[in-house]
Amino acid sequence: MGAERPLRFAIIGAGMSGILSAIKLQEAGFDDLTIYEKADRLGGTWRENTYPGISCDVPSHLYSYSFEPNPEWSHRFSPGGEIQTYFEGVAKRHGVEGRVRRGEEVTRCAFERGRWRLETKSGRRDEADAVIAATGVLHHPKLPDIPGLDRFEGALFHSARWDHGVRLDGRRIGIIGTGSTAVQITSALVDRVAKLSLFQRTAQWIMPQENPAFGEAEKAGFRQHPETMRRLHGELARMFSVFSNAIVDASSPQMKLIEDTCRANLESSVRDPVLREKLRPNYRAACKRLIMSPDFYQAIQKPSAELVTEGIECVVPGGVRTRDGRLVEIDVLVLATGFRVDRFVRPMLVIGHAGLELDERWSQRPDAYLSISVPGFPNFFMLNGPNGPVGNFSLIEVAELQMAYILQLVELLRSGRCREISPSEEATRRFEVERTEAARNTIWATGCRSWYLDDRGIPAVWPWTFDRFREEMARPKLEAWTQAG
Ligand code: NAP
Repeated sequence: MGAERPLRFAIIGAGMSGILSAIKLQEAGFDDLTIYEKADRLGGTWRENTYPGISCDVPSHLYSYSFEPNPEWSHRFSPGGEIQTYFEGVAKRHGVEGRVRRGEEVTRCAFERGRWRLETKSGRRDEADAVIAATGVLHHPKLPDIPGLDRFEGALFHSARWDHGVRLDGRRIGIIGTGSTAVQITSALVDRVAKLSLFQRTAQWIMPQENPAFGEAEKAGFRQHPETMRRLHGELARMFSVFSNAIVDASSPQMKLIEDTCRANLESSVRDPVLREKLRPNYRAACKRLIMSPDFYQAIQKPSAELVTEGIECVVPGGVRTRDGRLVEIDVLVLATGFRVDRFVRPMLVIGHAGLELDERWSQRPDAYLSISVPGFPNFFMLNGPNGPVGNFSLIEVAELQMAYILQLVELLRSGRCREISPSEEATRRFEVERTEAARNTIWATGCRSWYLDDRGIPAVWPWTFDRFREEMARPKLEAWTQAG
């Protein structure tokens, strides 16, 4: 056992997870840390996604840090702008803001002579004993491979790159995609535009979800009695646990209940039988990520809305041509086509022991022990990394549990018990074998296309209950970790 050693940390990304890790490191007494953020503002997902109608479908009092309840949430599911303000406020209150180097994209991160050497796009260099990669999951926009996109003469952008300079009112809007994003945009825009054409490749199950506002009296109650918010956070976390425990078992009664609720929503909300059939999915509810919406079915039935189910042939200068030869004329085309979820820390060049490149290791698909760390990349930890719990639950809770786990590993470095720690190849391999085996029994593997699936069609997620995840995160099994130095 060596002497206690001071540690320097580099955190990559100042979104929800990066802010969290800085706060938790500070609380644990680590003061030497820098957060690198490629953008000019904190907030991650909530900084990047500013499309009309954006909100979080996890209740706001759960989608908050457990240690930072917020009495000011306006709605049960608050809008994205409020969430962005919340994260910026938390970062400020915890003294994290001043530690962020904005506009600095880390391009290279190499483990050399016992330390991580970092380089940014602007040429800045830094060193750290440990790296926390908090680079996000739904981060790299996926652009569809549709011929003619480059010839479109109207405004065209991905939903995560919304161009707020483009006028929408009274114009003809096309939206490609029917995921959570497209559904929220549709509801927000349908009353503002001359025509909204929603291009659906696959129908979605929609879970009805009311979104009431918190009244002034309720907010005042939260302010005066913060413990009620903590209680609410706990209750919501328990409710979500029930859901997330059920979701991994495709044959659970809860999954049937969810499907029944979605089906009843479709039957009772959509009047026109032809439209109803177009909106009826041919796969099981929650196979794709379940969409929550109080008003999508109402929106798509408005006179200004049209659901286009004919496949897209190509984009032409004036709009979208469908396979039946029809031209849907469009002024503004929104690509709500999702994200490349297998990228994670890439395109950053990460080089571990003996020159091993992460991109090389991940050439087939990304892997990580417990989604946290990769063999051969010592003292390199990820939050919301590959194959983690990314279903319909709070990624904040996931990141908090992972950070508590990482801090226990970091403690081994601080105490001098070792200088390097990384998961063993054997533990990582075993974890992957068990994970992929269990993933085949989940609802995500019941026959639909979704961003949960890897290149083999196997769900790239935590396939067990959330309770098991909590237990696993409570204490590292040190036999799975290789300690050196
Ligand atoms: P997504 O769920 O991946 O949906 C992408 C959509 O684009 C799908 O409908 C897909 O059709 C369609 N698409 C992709 N390529 C296409 C092509 N070439 N031609 C036609 N259609 C194409 O993306 P997202 O809606 O941005 O949501 C991603 C995730 O972000 C969500 O699942 C959720 O986790 C998160 N999110 C959360 C909230 C929230 O409220 N918390 C809001 C928005 C997003 P197919 O279905 O046929 O593949």
